[in-house]
Amino acid sequence: MQAKKQKIIIGNWKMNPLSIGEAKEIFLGVKKVATSLTNVKTVICPPFVYLSLLNKLYTDEVIAFGAQNVFWDTKGAFTGEISAPMIKSVGGSFVIVGHSERRNMGETDEVVQKKTALALRSGLTAVVCIGEKERDKDGNFFHFLKGQIRESLKGLHKKHLERIVIAYEPIWAINKSDKDAMSPGDLREMAIFIRKNLVDHFKTASAASISILYGGSASSSTAKELVGGGQVDGLLVGHQSLDVTNFSDILKTVNAL
Ligand code: PEP
Repeated sequence: MQAKKQKIIIGNWKMNPLSIGEAKEIFLGVKKVATSLTNVKTVICPPFVYLSLLNKLYTDEVIAFGAQNVFWDTKGAFTGEISAPMIKSVGGSFVIVGHSERRNMGETDEVVQKKTALALRSGLTAVVCIGEKERDKDGNFFHFLKGQIRESLKGLHKKHLERIVIAYEPIWAINKSDKDAMSPGDLREMAIFIRKNLVDHFKTASAASISILYGGSASSSTAKELVGGGQVDGLLVGHQSLDVTNFSDILKTVNAL
C-alpha cells in the first residue's frame, strides 16, 4: 500500500519576532506539538538571522527550516544578499520564492524563475508563491495565474519536480481575519486549475503530484475546511504562525485529516 502523502504546513514568520529569545520561545512551543505529528511536515521560515542559530540549537529534523527569500546567484559582489548554498549550509532545506510581499517590492516572474532554478539546483525545496491581486468577475485572474506559472517555472528541470511546492496565495486574502480567507469551494476549483496548468507546463502527468499549499489568513478554525474541502496539500501560514497555540492547533487539525 502506498504511504499517505504528508501534508505540509509552513510558518512564514516574515519580519518577526524582534528578538532571538522570542524566536526560541515560539520555536520550542511549536516543536513540542510537532514532535508527535506524523501526517504533517512542519516547516518554519524565520528571518535569516535566526535561522542558523535555531537550527544549530534544535537540529533533530522534527521541524524543517526554510528561508523567506534567496538570491539568484551563488556568490560574489551582491551586498546584503544570501544565496541558496548558504541557506543549505546553515541547515535550511526550504525556501519561499516570489512571496507577494517581495513581488510588491519589484520582484518579477523572471527574477522568481532565476531564484527558483538556483534553489533547486542547490538542493533546496522551492516554495513558489503565486496569486492574483483580485478575483474579477470576468475571470481574468485565471489568465494571470497561468502566466505566473508559465513564467515563474520556465525551463525548470523535470528531475526537480519533487522539490517544487506551489503556494497559492490570493493577495486579497493575505493578512486579514480568517473570515476573509478563500472559501473551500473556490479553493478546490483553483487547486484543480493550478494542477492542470502544472501538468501542461511540465508536460508530464507526474506534475499533478506537486504539492499545492494555500496561503491567506488561514487559522485553526478554517484549516480543516481549507485543506480538506479545498483539496490542497497543506498551508502557508503567516501571522497565525507566530502564535504558538493557534499554529499548534492548525498543525493538529491538519494532522487529523
Ligand atoms: C503569507 O503572507 O504568506 C500569509 C499566508 O499570511 P497570512 O496567513 O498572515 O495571511
